[in-house]
Amino acid sequence: MSTVQTTTPSTATPEAPETPEAPGTPDAPDTLGMSAAQARSAVLEELILKDPGRFRVLTGDRPTGRLHLGHYFGTLHNRVRLQNLGVEMFVIIPDYQVLTDRDVADNLTEYVEELVLDYLAIGIDPARSTIFTHSAVPALNQLMLPFLSLVSVSELNRNPTVKDEIAHSRQSSVNGLMFTYPVHQAADILSCKANLVPVGQDQLPHLELTRTVARRFNDRYGDGTAVFPQPEALLSNAPLLLGTDGTKMSKSRGNAIALSADADATARLIRGAKTDAERHITYDPVARPEVSSLVLLAALCLDHSPLRVAEEIGSAGAAALKRTVTEAVNEYLAPIRARRAEYARDRAHLRKVLREGNERTRAVADATLAEVRAAMNSHY
Ligand code: ATP
Ligand code: MG
Repeated sequence: MSTVQTTTPSTATPEAPETPEAPGTPDAPDTLGMSAAQARSAVLEELILKDPGRFRVLTGDRPTGRLHLGHYFGTLHNRVRLQNLGVEMFVIIPDYQVLTDRDVADNLTEYVEELVLDYLAIGIDPARSTIFTHSAVPALNQLMLPFLSLVSVSELNRNPTVKDEIAHSRQSSVNGLMFTYPVHQAADILSCKANLVPVGQDQLPHLELTRTVARRFNDRYGDGTAVFPQPEALLSNAPLLLGTDGTKMSKSRGNAIALSADADATARLIRGAKTDAERHITYDPVARPEVSSLVLLAALCLDHSPLRVAEEIGSAGAAALKRTVTEAVNEYLAPIRARRAEYARDRAHLRKVLREGNERTRAVADATLAEVRAAMNSHY
C-alpha cells in the first residue's frame, strides 16, 4: 500500500475552468463555500494530472436504494476517471449510516449488492479500487469516540446538510446518529488516510468537519507530526443535480432516475419532471432551477455546454426539452445498463468483491488505529 502524503497541496495557481453553476435551490444554501470549493477543485484537477500517486480517495454511497443520475454526474463519473488516472481509491458502503433517518435498514443485503453492481457497471475495477462495507471494519468505528471529543455540540447542530436531511426525514424524532454521522464520515475518510473526496455539494459541510477533526487531532496528539491528512473535496460539474420534483435528486425521496431503470421507465420519469410556465428554454440555474437541471442533464450526457442545449431547444418548450433529455440519458446509459445486466448474473462474484475489499480495508484501518493509539498513549 503506498504512503499517502499528508501535506495539503497548495502551490498551484487557481484557474477555474468553465463549469456550469449548480442550480440555486433551498438545497444549495452555501453558495459562497460552493464557489471556493469549485475553484479549489480546478486546482486539484491539475495536481492530480501531474501526480496521481500523491492522492488517495475515499467516497461512498448509503445502501438505501439504487444509484441515480445525481450520483453519476455528482461523483461516480469522477471516481472512475480518478481510478483510471492511477489514483488509489476506497469506496465505502456505509451501512450503519442508513439508520440516521429510519428505524430499520430495509432490504440491506439487496441494496448493498445493487450498489456493488452499479459500481462494477460504471467501471469501478475491484482489482484497482477497494469496495467495502462500514460494519465490516471495526477499527474504523473505534475512531469515532476520540473524534467525537474533538467537535462541539454546536458545531454538530449547525451543519446545513444535516438540517436539510432532518427536514426530509420521515422520523418523528431525530436520533443521535443523525447528528453525529458527519463525525462517523470523518472516521471513514481518516481511517484510510484519504486526502481526496469526490463528492456532491451536500457533502461540503461534512468535509469541512473532517478537516477540523484531522487538524484538531494532529494539534492535540500529533507531537509535531501530522497523523492525519486534511482531506479535500473534489466537486464535479454537477455538484447538485435536481430530481423530478425540483429538489436534490435522492435515493430516498422518490424523485430519482436510477442508473438501472429501463428506457421506458426513464422516459416516464422525465416526462413527469417539474418544469415552469415559461415556454422558451434557457439555462439559468438561479432563476429556473428545474428547467436548468434538465438542460444540464442533457448537456452532461451529450457532452455539450448547457447553453448550447438550451439554445437548440429555444421556443420548442418543455416537452421538446424532455424528449431531448430522455434520448440523451437513455443513449448514455445503454452500455452501463448492458454491463450491469451481465454482472447481475453472478451474485457470488459481488460477495467476493466485498469480502476482499473488507479484508484490504481492515488492514489499512488497523494500521491507522495503531497510530492513533500510540499518539494517544493508549498502550496496554
Ligand atoms: P439518500 O437519499 O439515501 O441520502 P442520496 O441520493 O442522497 O441518498 P448518498 O448516498 O447520500 O445519496 O450520497 C452519495 C454521494 O452522492 C455523495 O457524495 C453525494 O454528494 C452524491 N450525491 C447524491 N445525490 C446527488 C445529487 N443529486 N447531485 C450531485 N451529487 C449527489
Ligand atoms: Mg444523502
